[in-house]
Amino acid sequence: MAAEEGTAAHYIRTHGGPYSLCAWHELQATLAAVLPTGLLNTEAAFSHYEEGPAGVTVHFGGGSRPVAARLLVGCDGAQSAVRQQLLVDGPPDYLGSAIWRGVAPLPGWWPGPGTYCLWLRQPLIVRAFPLPGRGTVVWQAYAPWPAARLADIGGRRAAYVQDPVARREAGEARKARALEAFDGWCAEVHDLFCATDALAITEHGQFCRRPDACKVWARGRVALLGDAARQPTQFLAQGTSQAFEDALELGRAVGEHGPTPEALAAYEAARQPGAEAVHRHSLQMFEDFQAGRFK
Ligand SMILES: Cc1cc2nc3c(=O)[nH]c(=O)nc-3n(C[C@H](O)[C@H](O)[C@H](O)COP(=O)(O)OP(=O)(O)OC[C@H]3O[C@@H](n4cnc5c(N)ncnc54)[C@H](O)[C@@H]3O)c2cc1C
Repeated sequence: MAAEEGTAAHYIRTHGGPYSLCAWHELQATLAAVLPTGLLNTEAAFSHYEEGPAGVTVHFGGGSRPVAARLLVGCDGAQSAVRQQLLVDGPPDYLGSAIWRGVAPLPGWWPGPGTYCLWLRQPLIVRAFPLPGRGTVVWQAYAPWPAARLADIGGRRAAYVQDPVARREAGEARKARALEAFDGWCAEVHDLFCATDALAITEHGQFCRRPDACKVWARGRVALLGDAARQPTQFLAQGTSQAFEDALELGRAVGEHGPTPEALAAYEAARQPGAEAVHRHSLQMFEDFQAGRFK
């Protein structure tokens, strides 16, 4: 890595500003706080919908009452159940790679403020970023993981979540697998893993949909948004930003056409081609990285 790379100066020169980081739970809490009271229901899991000429009736599991709406937007992530009813195209592909993530105390050896660290031995990678003002570092580690052992790292679970019930032995097993995957790596990487509370380590497989399978985002009164519409790889770190752009275009289209199928068609037309270009780029980066061609 060039001396300047990974520093705030590098980002300012190449992107016009320093990189900014936001903890996932804080982003979600900030977004939730601006919604009108009573609108958000985190207990009801979508089960299926019925579409009629004037609207959609959405059904949930666990005894929650159905909801009648003019439109349904499935933003239920990479393993979207809305997508499965709309497109019936099965789950995304497993890419043969595992991801571990955690938050560790800022170590004494950290190179300096505004700096991120990257350890690279293709196709393995660890990247770590300090969370400003927190005294903590968020890290992500990617390593090949055989499909035959996918069940060990959570199988095809629907989200990048921790155990619903915190179980220390499960956390310790996740940490042990991360250490196993990065056996022989430098002391700093092991230090980061070991200093992380095992219960705060998440572990899951890396999945992706092929761009050609992600052309359709809307039919009638039902649309998809974010990872439900297309699942890129994590290599461009663009998934959330792209989901925000989807939401912006969807809002514009509904503002222009009202809550109608025309609005959803206009949203798809406005967003799908640009998002596909990012999707393709992220997949190319992943493939180059797996083949050791990444520069
Ligand atoms: C390791 C890793 C690193 C990443 N780094 C970055 C990064 O640096 N920058 C970036 O922009 N992106 C990054 N991403 C990508 C980003 O996390 C996703 O693209 C983004 O979360 C997609 O947002 P979404 O709202 O579409 O889906 P999600 O964030 O997955 O949200 C979907 C929601 O739907 C809910 N849900 C699922 N099923 C149901 C159901 N049946 N009923 C009701 N609710 C349901 C889930 O609980 C969840 O709350 C990263 C991803 C990974 C895995």
